[in-house]
Amino acid sequence: MGEQRVLRKTLEALSEAVFPSNIYCACCGCLIDGTRPYALCDSCMKKMHWNNGRTCEKCGKALPETYRGGRCYNCMGSNHSFRKGYSCLTYGLYEREMILDYKYNGKGYLGKKFGDILFDRIRWENLKIDVIIPIPIHRTRERKRGYNQTELMAARLAQLWGKTLMPDALQRTRETILLRSLSPIERESALRGAFAVTKKGKAELPGKAILLIDDIYTTGATIDECSRILLECGAAAVDFLTLASGGNRRPKGL
Ligand SMILES: [Zn+2]
Ligand SMILES: [Zn+2]
Repeated sequence: MGEQRVLRKTLEALSEAVFPSNIYCACCGCLIDGTRPYALCDSCMKKMHWNNGRTCEKCGKALPETYRGGRCYNCMGSNHSFRKGYSCLTYGLYEREMILDYKYNGKGYLGKKFGDILFDRIRWENLKIDVIIPIPIHRTRERKRGYNQTELMAARLAQLWGKTLMPDALQRTRETILLRSLSPIERESALRGAFAVTKKGKAELPGKAILLIDDIYTTGATIDECSRILLECGAAAVDFLTLASGGNRRPKGL
């Protein structure tokens, strides 16, 4: 584990040398000056859908001004196990571009910038949290990619916010097939048993208020499954914060 961390640090330093994170826009790649927040150019900054208007009182998805009620369609129809959710952006074309680039094109250095975004979203909320836990990816995938992108943003958030980061409290015990094409019930069963609380998690999490971190929230199946097993282990409450969340889509038949 120690060796892996040293290696990760070295890789981060190398990628910082080859692609200095402060001179290219995280979304379109154009040249910017290093003082810009979040490493976004003016144009991309404006195009992003920031969730700074009305949001779902349960999961934090953005709600249109004209939408009635305090909960999104998804939260009206499901019994989430988490307490409350927060997200920074609504997932659209630009957000997709930025997140995919981060996840699959080796731009790990963006983790810090995304951590800054997470911190600015959550810092003014009156939220009492003891531990920050990133949603884990499967070990083979982490080995292939060299890092868990969610852990990098969570680490930056924990550092800025002065909270404890526990990346080894949860583990992904098996890979899941792409959830996008599944119905909510199918998603739930596909995720059963896909995560486990580690020995360390079982020892240290009882009574703790936990904030889960992930990149994208859609129907909440992953966050719900992780919350469920954490609560089962005695966690006091589980909230979550994601970089982006899907829009408030009306389900078929409603
Ligand atoms: Zn840009
Ligand atoms: Zn909701």
